[in-house]
Amino acid sequence: MSGVRRNGGISFWYDGFAELGGRPRLNGDRRVDVAIVGGGYTGLWAAYYLKRARPELDVVVLEREFCGFGASGRNGGWLSDHFSTPRAAMERTHGRAGVVAQQQAMRASIDEVIAVAAQEGIEADIVKHGLLTVARGPAQERRLAAAVAEDRAWGDTHADLLELDRPALDARVTVAGAGSGAWSPHCARIQPAKLVRGLAELVARLGVTIHESTTVTEIVPGAAITDGGTVRADVVLSCLEGFTASLKGRERAWLPLNSAIVATDPLPDRVWEEIGWSGEELLGDAAHAYCYAQRTADGRIAMGGRGVPYRFGSRTDVNGATQETTIAQLTVLLHDLFPATADVPIARAWCGVLGVPRDWASTVRLDPTTGLGTAGGYVGNGVTTANLAGRTLRDLVLGEQTELTGLPWVGHTARDWEPEPLRWIGARLVYGLYRAADRREQAGGEPRTSALAKAASLLAGR
Ligand SMILES: Cc1cc2nc3c(=O)[nH]c(=O)nc-3n(C[C@H](O)[C@H](O)[C@H](O)COP(=O)(O)OP(=O)(O)OC[C@H]3O[C@@H](n4cnc5c(N)ncnc54)[C@H](O)[C@@H]3O)c2cc1C
Repeated sequence: MSGVRRNGGISFWYDGFAELGGRPRLNGDRRVDVAIVGGGYTGLWAAYYLKRARPELDVVVLEREFCGFGASGRNGGWLSDHFSTPRAAMERTHGRAGVVAQQQAMRASIDEVIAVAAQEGIEADIVKHGLLTVARGPAQERRLAAAVAEDRAWGDTHADLLELDRPALDARVTVAGAGSGAWSPHCARIQPAKLVRGLAELVARLGVTIHESTTVTEIVPGAAITDGGTVRADVVLSCLEGFTASLKGRERAWLPLNSAIVATDPLPDRVWEEIGWSGEELLGDAAHAYCYAQRTADGRIAMGGRGVPYRFGSRTDVNGATQETTIAQLTVLLHDLFPATADVPIARAWCGVLGVPRDWASTVRLDPTTGLGTAGGYVGNGVTTANLAGRTLRDLVLGEQTELTGLPWVGHTARDWEPEPLRWIGARLVYGLYRAADRREQAGGEPRTSALAKAASLLAGR
């Protein structure tokens, strides 16, 4: 047994909130200007920007459970500038300038989230202390150095990204086995559920109607069909990310990839002193099955990783409960990185799904002829990207050509995933290979990136 005190219950981020949801379900047919399907960051940011731009628009959000039930209420709280689409792919279609513009748009989106939260009174424990990436072992060190070199080639200066040798890294945080690191100032820590709850309350105040406990079964041009009635609309935006396969005809669109997190009890001062993580930087490693961690506002470590990557038939978890083996693996990794946490109880564990397109490239798009739009496929980088998506969807819905609508990811489409059981076999194989590659590299057998990881990336189409 893993020894976790509570597994599931959506996520740790909801502990302490007395009530989840409670907004009325849809009861009967209605007609609106814009119907938004899914009450996570993507749908709520789109609703926010549309309503701020055109208060007269009738906008409705249709949510199966409650706003923030999905990844937006469960994630690792990295408001980061990572963008999923490979730069080479964007360069092919939009040149160097397009790639740079996309990167700048991501960084601007971080400041935009922080600014809107401040202006609109959303308290989400946001602290912009950047992101520390640590490399453990020669293969990870080489990979991190190559990633830094690539970022430099794309224009990152030392103000954007700082290489840290062992002493410089140790001065910030002591991670067992880490030989080097890199720090980017462009990222911020958030409390995910506070942000998504705050957004839902905000858009409701602005006059957006939110129907919770309302399942959309199908989207067709001009309508979202739900279990409580049909919503007719000029524009219907599908904002379901990892839940997209729940729609009729979309079963093979984005693969719902699972990610899981454990959170410790608050760490005693002596443990924090030993670790030395006195800032509130986000922290990740350079493994293939990488981990992502944050120091929470109440002094815990919340650390996530891939776990069991995919459930047969694109199924999702039940209320965030994750497998015992995943909890055990994450706990071992936590203790491995921070031996001083060995006696600190693991208070919580949970999981959720994020959306992965067949080509691992994110998208935001609207077909003006059908009025159907979508955004997602963020591949684990959705906290910031969803804000960019919300503003871009606003411009696309309003028919305005802006800097945002000219970015490389706008209008992108990918082919569908393979039918089952190929999808399941492929996902298991890919993550099995990544894990095996990490094990080999950690065991010291491979000073370079393992051939197993290269095979996995090839197989995955990355
Ligand atoms: C464990 C975990 C950790 C992560 N960590 C990070 C991180 O640190 N940084 C980062 O950038 N990204 C992270 N991500 C990814 C990020 O959280 C997501 O990409 C982002 O929240 C997606 O937002 P969304 O609004 O598009 O989708 P979601 O937040 O998933 O919202 C979709 C909503 O649709 C609802 N829904 C589902 N089916 C239906 C239906 N048929 N009809 C109506 N409503 C429906 C769901 O209940 C849900 O509320 C993480 C994801 C997970 C799972």
